[in-house]
Amino acid sequence: MRIDIITVLPEMLEGFVNQSILLRAQNKGLAEIHIHNLRDYTLDKHKRVDDYPYGGFAGMVMQCQPIDDCISALMAQRHYDEVIFTSPDGEIFDQPMANTLSLCENIIILCGHYKGVDYRIREHLITKEISIGDYVLTGGEIAAAAIADAVVRLIPGVIGDEQSALSDSFQDGLLAAPIYTRPADYKGWKVPEILLSGNEAKIKDWELSQSLERTKRLRPNLLSTDANNE
Ligand code: SAH
Repeated sequence: MRIDIITVLPEMLEGFVNQSILLRAQNKGLAEIHIHNLRDYTLDKHKRVDDYPYGGFAGMVMQCQPIDDCISALMAQRHYDEVIFTSPDGEIFDQPMANTLSLCENIIILCGHYKGVDYRIREHLITKEISIGDYVLTGGEIAAAAIADAVVRLIPGVIGDEQSALSDSFQDGLLAAPIYTRPADYKGWKVPEILLSGNEAKIKDWELSQSLERTKRLRPNLLSTDANNE
């Protein structure tokens, strides 16, 4: 899978995508992440990529030209399954969306800044708008990082123990069961007996009942028929 991220703050993302799981995925040849500095595409001699909004509104708006030229240059080289814009008014990012995106071959993620991008970019070039939650960030970089991380770790082979990604919260619509490691007794804080029993079937039952109980208590919306029909 190839992810092209377009940003005015490439340094902010370079550190993130070259660490941990994203680095491992790239080293294994399972993912390629390319970061593009939007300023490299502006025709403005002062390297500006924003301008005042029509209508006299507050804030600055990212102009069409650099974004169009950058996206067009990428699209001339390969087909993209999605051209994503990170935006607080987009569809809320969740695990099912991460699963769907992990099946894509090539995606572009455009990070907004200032007041956002000229709306014509969204109308003509963007195929999907994603929000990472109902709050406003200063730029789309944190959203792009969250999307890239959640998506790449789902590509088969990226996480050593594949079961581990499959048993994470949300993957089956439930929160994960509690987990423990050695020692079995730490300052009198005990690991549930059942996990030490070696009885695989009973442990599986315990895991499921814990998942259900925690989901019912902490995120009942995940169990509602609406959530299942989405
Ligand atoms: N004026 C916009 C907010 C601009 S915030 C509005 O009212 O909707 C600047 C940029 O940060 C956005 O263009 C977007 O790319 C990014 N951003 C901010 N909050 C975000 C969120 N919750 N999810 C994804 N991207 C976000």
